Amino acid sequence: MLHDITEKAQLLEELHTQASMDYLTDIYNRRAFFEKAELLLQSNHHQKGNIALLLDIDNFKQINDRYGHPCGDKVLQVLSYEIRQNMQDFQQAVFGRYGGEEFSFLFTSISIEQAETIADAFRQKISEIEFTWINQKIDVTVSIGISVSTKEMDTSLEDLLLQADIALYEAKKKGRNQVCLYKNTQ
Ligand code: GH3
Ligand code: MG
Ligand code: MG
Repeated sequence: MLHDITEKAQLLEELHTQASMDYLTDIYNRRAFFEKAELLLQSNHHQKGNIALLLDIDNFKQINDRYGHPCGDKVLQVLSYEIRQNMQDFQQAVFGRYGGEEFSFLFTSISIEQAETIADAFRQKISEIEFTWINQKIDVTVSIGISVSTKEMDTSLEDLLLQADIALYEAKKKGRNQVCLYKNTQ
């Protein structure tokens, strides 16, 4: 009987993990990202500010079109691995696959300057990864949008991500392979 209950609990836990992870990249999926990010925000009492990043692969459609969908999948996997490695240093942070070729991040214990440095280091590192697909070298770059909320502003997670998306759009417009910070013009 006890054994049976333990097995059920294990199965439930496994199902929950499966439902949280993106099957292709093995990082949190969008839903889990939002869940964990909200928890992180709630637990952040001594905040320096909340910072969101949206990272989007440049011209990803072209990669799929030129080399095929499996190649695009591989790029997503390698990139996710790289992101995971680089995020190990940050305790108060969450990241996940936001959708297609977009990744979202929330940091709660870093300054704007640190966020810009981190984002630019990501951008640079990714541009230096040597992707190959059937002996062909593939250049992969990303654009990143950053948004910031201070304790006084108390911006919601949704709004923070919307602002990061506006900054991301700016980075694309400016020529891609760059980082832009959302500037509140109000
Ligand atoms: P931009 O620089 O403006 O971001 O251009 P883009 O080509 O990256 O953006 P666009 O939104 O036009 O194309 C995104 C592509 O990502 C289209 C879609 O087929 C592809 N994609 C989304 N999810 C996956 C996936 O899981 N695997 C692969 N291989 N492709 C995917
Ligand atoms: Mg996109
Ligand atoms: Mg893209």
